[in-house]
Amino acid sequence: MFIIYENVPKFTDHHMKESVVRVHIVNLRDYIWKDDPANVVPTCTCPANRNLKDCCAGIMVALKQRPEFATWYGSSFLEKRELLSRRLRADLTAPSLYSFM
Ligand SMILES: [Zn+2]
Repeated sequence: MFIIYENVPKFTDHHMKESVVRVHIVNLRDYIWKDDPANVVPTCTCPANRNLKDCCAGIMVALKQRPEFATWYGSSFLEKRELLSRRLRADLTAPSLYSFM
């Protein structure tokens, strides 16, 4: 578990009317550094991760602190599909989820 403070200045995105400190509480438990059905995606409490299901700045900073990062990182975090929510991955969607649709 990592607690990361991100200084977000005013106007860095269209929603910031004043400078804020965004707190990321990142959970890397059971993240195994590969795109595998057993992998558990990193999660964060911030709006980017909760609402957009995106890999937030907090997750990226937390991963960078780990020794595995040096050999794992490619040219972009966007190449790392395992960092996205399983909700976005048809190959990992549990059949039971379709019963709610
Ligand atoms: Zn976050």
